[in-house]
Amino acid sequence: MNRRGFVAAAAAASAVNAANAKLALLGGQPVRKANPPSWPRLHAEDEKAWMEVLRGGHWYRGSGKTVDEFEKRFAAAIGSPYCLATANGTSALYISLSAIDIGPGDEVLVPPYTFIATVNAVLMRHALPVFVDSDLETMQMNAAKVESRITERTRAIMPVHLGGSPANLDVILEIARFRRLPVIEDACQAVFGEWRGRRLGSLGTTGCFSFQASKNLNCGEGGAVMTADASLADRAFSFHNNSRGRRNAPGDFSYRATGTNLRMTEFQAALLMSQMLRLQEQAKLRDENASYLTSMLREIPGIRPARMYDGCTRNGWHIYMLRYDREAFAGVSRAVFLRALAAEGVRASPGYRPLNKEPFLREAFQSRGWRAIYPEKLLAEWDERNRCPVNDRLCEEAVWFGQTTLLGSRQDMEQIAGAVRKIQSQAADLRSL
Ligand SMILES: *Cc1c(COP(=O)(O)O)cnc(C)c1O
Repeated sequence: MNRRGFVAAAAAASAVNAANAKLALLGGQPVRKANPPSWPRLHAEDEKAWMEVLRGGHWYRGSGKTVDEFEKRFAAAIGSPYCLATANGTSALYISLSAIDIGPGDEVLVPPYTFIATVNAVLMRHALPVFVDSDLETMQMNAAKVESRITERTRAIMPVHLGGSPANLDVILEIARFRRLPVIEDACQAVFGEWRGRRLGSLGTTGCFSFQASKNLNCGEGGAVMTADASLADRAFSFHNNSRGRRNAPGDFSYRATGTNLRMTEFQAALLMSQMLRLQEQAKLRDENASYLTSMLREIPGIRPARMYDGCTRNGWHIYMLRYDREAFAGVSRAVFLRALAAEGVRASPGYRPLNKEPFLREAFQSRGWRAIYPEKLLAEWDERNRCPVNDRLCEEAVWFGQTTLLGSRQDMEQIAGAVRKIQSQAADLRSL
């Protein structure tokens, strides 16, 4: 047996033994002690890129060239004609909605299973978020339910490629074409994900990215708006630059439309370009590890890794998502299962709560501004119109592993699957917790 074969056999043997060992939550030895790989990753080229901007003295995009350069490179990487770098992902969504002229009285279709920023961007335009229920198997917006949520006030569809896995763009883009509605892709978790060979973020009217610290490409805070529409790109630029256009000379204080300041700094752009050097390699590693993990987890009764749509040619893998069925684990609740996993040295999260049920939404709708815009009846019926029963169930069953988990080794993946099997084999012991 060669060394690799030996290591693999030893790992398999230890995973089998571990299944009979006492659960760590009940005082036994954990399956693993290693922490997930640290994030972000700092290389010499990051320091160099940062120091060049620092010493160059041009820290603002108006006097430097770094943000311009990043926009060119990122547009090429995504396969989109225009890229606008922004302060963060939330502002990328907000800028998109503004440039598309979404405002008070408009309805925007969103999924209930997403980060709050998707919904906040809609609220910041004083538009009304309308939730489309989730697809239990993929955990994405259920494209088959989009039509039923469209009214004469609907002005845009905002699918989210949650976890990096694409929403069903064939169906969503077709409905959008038929209904003449713009599509804003929230690709904040989906850098380098693909739909039928095209990069996510390049298929909608706009595509939005986040480069916040937790994301797969990051510079602490940052974002981008992608589009193929030159005039939209222009409006987006001026909106994010306090209503000043690209061609405004330094002393030219002429304005168009409304705007605010959501510019990216030269530092952020420099860091993004150096981080981009390793993005492809990291995406490949996450992809390999995710496939390997799925091949093991799908053999475990009651563990259902999220399915991907046929059009998904590549998952961006920001979150590895699965559903946990307590019936296959002696009725042990998800919360106790997660505690047992943590004790075995595997970090996992229960994921999002149902956004459509957030009390703050109702508070917003009761505020003076909202009541001035929307008829009372419309707000009163909002709850009824926004039920998402499938998503309620999804939020109770989901389990997530973060993207850094997928930057580990094959042995790390084996240990994760081993920990799940170990907990399952002794789940009855956890029933009293
Ligand atoms: C991270 C994220 C955002 C917002 O990005 P920020 O850069 O944190 O503002 C929006 N939508 C989704 C789905 C995200 O995951």
